[in-house]
Amino acid sequence: MERKMKVQLEGTLESQSLARAVAGAYAAEMDPTVDELTEIKTAVSEAVSNVALHAYPGEIKGDMTLEFMMPARDTIMIRIADRGVGIENIARAMEPMYTTDTGENCSGMGFTVMESFMDKIRVDSRPGEGTTVTMIKKLDTYYGI
Ligand code: ATP
Ligand code: MG
Repeated sequence: MERKMKVQLEGTLESQSLARAVAGAYAAEMDPTVDELTEIKTAVSEAVSNVALHAYPGEIKGDMTLEFMMPARDTIMIRIADRGVGIENIARAMEPMYTTDTGENCSGMGFTVMESFMDKIRVDSRPGEGTTVTMIKKLDTYYGI
């Protein structure tokens, strides 16, 4: 796979703007439209906020890794992985408006946003071991002559 990039960040909300910037910088090389760039950054933002808000509920925050790949020259693949608490029921977690947040901070729309902005998203998770979110988007790139 070409042009692989791997970045390790703290699993906190402070990492969110850096994660957006890194995703934007990587995707910008693929000549995306402004909309595509915003969609990619927003999807990454949602996955990162999930790590920060849900993966490490204790005082000690773990890290997350962001991997960027280009399986084809018009396709971006992003993988965000944590080693946090994991998700017991993945299908349910991905349902619109499902949240385990008891306050008023979360509306349960993160996965729905990721699904609508990317072409495909896959969630692998095991309770106690962590969660990996893989997202793929085919860009409407024009390789004109
Ligand atoms: P919103 O994203 O709208 O603020 P939310 O984060 O609760 O709300 P989703 O992003 O759709 O909604 O996530 C749904 C649920 O999946 C979360 O409430 C949480 O229980 C679980 N979840 C998501 N990502 C992780 C993760 N990395 N580790 C552990 N649990 C997660
Ligand atoms: Mg969320």
